[in-house]
Amino acid sequence: MTIKTTPEAPVHKFSSMKFLTQELDDLKKTGQFRNLKILESPQQAVSLINGREVINLTSNNYLGLATHPALIENARAATSAFGVGTAAVRSIIGTQKIHQNLEKRLALFKGTEAAVVLQSGFATNIAVVQSVLSDEQDILISDELNHASIIDGGRLSKAKRFIYPHKNMQALESLLKTHAPGARRRMIVTDGVFSMDGDVAPLPEIVEIAGRFDAIVMVDDAHASGVMGPQGRGTPAYFGLTDRIPIHIGTLSKAIAAMGGYVASTQEMQDFLFHKARPFLFSSSHPASVIATCMAALDILETDSARLHRLWDNARHFKAGLVNMGFNTGASETPITPVIIGDTRLARAMEERLFEEGIFALSITYPTVAKGKERLRTIITSEHSNQHLETALAAFHKIGRLLGILNK
Ligand SMILES: *Cc1c(COP(=O)(O)O)cnc(C)c1O
Repeated sequence: MTIKTTPEAPVHKFSSMKFLTQELDDLKKTGQFRNLKILESPQQAVSLINGREVINLTSNNYLGLATHPALIENARAATSAFGVGTAAVRSIIGTQKIHQNLEKRLALFKGTEAAVVLQSGFATNIAVVQSVLSDEQDILISDELNHASIIDGGRLSKAKRFIYPHKNMQALESLLKTHAPGARRRMIVTDGVFSMDGDVAPLPEIVEIAGRFDAIVMVDDAHASGVMGPQGRGTPAYFGLTDRIPIHIGTLSKAIAAMGGYVASTQEMQDFLFHKARPFLFSSSHPASVIATCMAALDILETDSARLHRLWDNARHFKAGLVNMGFNTGASETPITPVIIGDTRLARAMEERLFEEGIFALSITYPTVAKGKERLRTIITSEHSNQHLETALAAFHKIGRLLGILNK
């Protein structure tokens, strides 16, 4: 397939935009400036990136569904049947039967009464936090490592916001003790699996504490849906706490490999969001192809457990290999395995040298992670073969020693 590009881009200078030169220079000085990596193949275990075939340890394509024939076929069929787009927002005339069906399917998948699908996981977090916490008397209590979209949802809400140190339950409890009395609505929000560290939220403790203060618990399972718990139903299912958690967030953009986000909750929450959630009311709905892709992905999650088993076997094997060599993989318990380097330039150098060896693992640096926690983040998928993993581990060992990160 060919995609036309403009041969010559016009160049215009604006004195009002000079600040950009300054800002970009600052990024270059601190080693933070980067060019986009270009994916020239589908997202898969071995991908063509910047003209080079590499073992790809950087996607969220946990189950390899981005290229699954059933998903592709469903997307094609839905495009033929329903067109390429809805040209409307959900609340006007952008809800097709297929959107409704997916919401029912997702609710069943998560074990809740109802669900609402939005354009992305990012939009979903904003939609829920902003619409539920709409008054200055509301409070939002959030783990310090929660995703940016939760932070932005809090900023757009009217709530007073409090942050507890990562997974620190004493701090959570003491924030509630101080601020819950007198608050109109209280919400505790946490990632289910933390996206940079791959550790799991202490949901049993959070649910117990929330119960004592009548606080709403919202779990963002972007990296857990399709990955954790039976059939990939997420962290609440993993802990057996589905019916104790009122708000479950998932994404359709990671393991599901399409695009979108959803909130699974009560029927009343669905009715509420249909009237109050700004991304639902003011931004157009998904093309049917995306929705049909997600339906096919759910079929696979519910019937093909082999992928999930391979994912976890691969993740455990790769993590153990890194740990045995002496790398610091932090608190990781999931297929997200950080290799903590602790320095921006060294992390960048490691990424570059590994790329030359045919391995792609993205470096993640300040401000995405704290200073001193600069890292390479790896995500293993079910589609990596043993050979891929051995090749990648050997390269990590070689480059780790070469850069003095490992001393044996
Ligand atoms: C990726 C991610 C999101 C955003 O999901 P998108 O569908 O990509 O917008 C939200 N929350 C967490 C924890 C994530 O990791």
